[in-house]
Amino acid sequence: MEKKSENRRILLVDDEPVIRETLCSILREEGYIVFTAHTGKEAIRLAKESLFDVAIIDLKLPDVEGLNVLHDIKEHNPDICSILITAYPTTESAIQAVQEEAYEYITKPFDINHVKLVIKRGIEEKQLEIENKVLLQNLQKEKEKLETMLQIGHAMSSLLNLEELTNFVVGKIAEILKARNCSLMLINEEEETLTINAAVGLDEAVIKTTRIKLGQSISGWVAKEGEPVLVTDIENDLKFGRANLPKYKTKSLLCIPLKVKDNILGVINVADKQVADKDEIFTEDDLRFLGVVCNYAAIAIENAQLYGTLKNLARTDGLTGLFNHRYFQTHLSSEIDRVQRYSRNLSLLMFDIDFFKKFNDTYGHPMGDMVLSQIAKVIRKSVRKVDIPCRYGGEEFAVILPETKLKESVVVAEKIRKSVEDLRFDVGKGMGKKKMTISGGVAAFKSGMSKEELVMHADGVLYKAKSEGKNRICIFTKK
Ligand code: GH3
Ligand code: MG
Ligand code: MG
Repeated sequence: MEKKSENRRILLVDDEPVIRETLCSILREEGYIVFTAHTGKEAIRLAKESLFDVAIIDLKLPDVEGLNVLHDIKEHNPDICSILITAYPTTESAIQAVQEEAYEYITKPFDINHVKLVIKRGIEEKQLEIENKVLLQNLQKEKEKLETMLQIGHAMSSLLNLEELTNFVVGKIAEILKARNCSLMLINEEEETLTINAAVGLDEAVIKTTRIKLGQSISGWVAKEGEPVLVTDIENDLKFGRANLPKYKTKSLLCIPLKVKDNILGVINVADKQVADKDEIFTEDDLRFLGVVCNYAAIAIENAQLYGTLKNLARTDGLTGLFNHRYFQTHLSSEIDRVQRYSRNLSLLMFDIDFFKKFNDTYGHPMGDMVLSQIAKVIRKSVRKVDIPCRYGGEEFAVILPETKLKESVVVAEKIRKSVEDLRFDVGKGMGKKKMTISGGVAAFKSGMSKEELVMHADGVLYKAKSEGKNRICIFTKK
């Protein structure tokens, strides 16, 4: 905005009282605020105390050279428009005036209208210069932001692992918005809640336990409505006003939905903006920037989720949800490489349903499927997270047990066998509930064994369990 001349401050330095007084009164009439000084020292003192728009300086002063006065004034008022006046113009002083970046060099006696014009033009040009500087700084900032966005977009599109991707996103956002606190929450469709997938600046316990119902609190509202929120002061916010939570230092926060078209995947929360250890408030600019990053992030997250689903589909069995035969083979290979290299333990369980053909023939294939999936459920429930339960074939199951010795794996196998024996299958009206059993074989990995040998040993003892009467576990014990 352009300042009116009445707000413009002029510092007038001349040792001749007549010039000082005449110029001063004429300029005051024009609406300028004029400060006068008759020595260089006094002028420098005034310039140190406050900012001026214009300095009119006589070159010949009793104490300090006018050019030196200008030099000192510029140290405190770098944007000042300076006009030098002299009764003794020399080429040397004119050159020095240029070197000191004086705006104009006027010789006495001067035409007062000319001086007025020079001041007016000088102020306008300085104003333009300042505005240009601000514009340039803003452009520079925008350029940096655009570059960062490009970088983020590029990095995100190459990350397919959801955990890596979300960690990258929160880290970058926190860094760019100078936020101490950033969390990415994804929607759990079944529970209709938001849980934290990745975060910076939050305790592990908070990350694990936080559950926010859709529609509730700020993140829940954003996840439900799909609208971004900028809160500058949480305690006095018209919509979300509440006491500031102890986990946040500042009262300002941002929450943006992660949205692909109309599909809302979750939200990103940003809080505790601090620049050079000082608390700050988020701005509309921060909101816009985060909005663009979230657009990129949402697409990348959706991609990673789809990739994860596809990967799961490719390695699981449709009927039982257990890992499929192909995954069993590749995983067992890599497990054997690992245990071989680091001399660790590894066991393999194999099961086969007893008299399953008869069951199928009697109650039909769909009933057989039901038995398969229920037995699979028992197996999944009986093993640890690190174990790999698989559907090895039609009615055969296998479980890879990393870090497990033979003795411990027999306990697991026995537990599974017993749990299946205790199950009862509802085969339809009037036919009651049927019992099924399984037979199992257990083998532990020994150094130098191949994958095929390990499978053959487990399968071999499974066959033995069958021939010894079924519904039992046999253990491979030979060297
Ligand atoms: P044993 O006690 O010796 O294991 O005899 P069994 O009858 O269980 O074994 P057999 O190998 O003779 O028959 C296996 C049966 O498993 C044959 C097949 O119909 C059934 N089966 C294999 N895959 C599926 C499936 O996906 N669904 C259903 N319902 N049955 C299956
Ligand atoms: Mg079989
Ligand atoms: Mg069988």
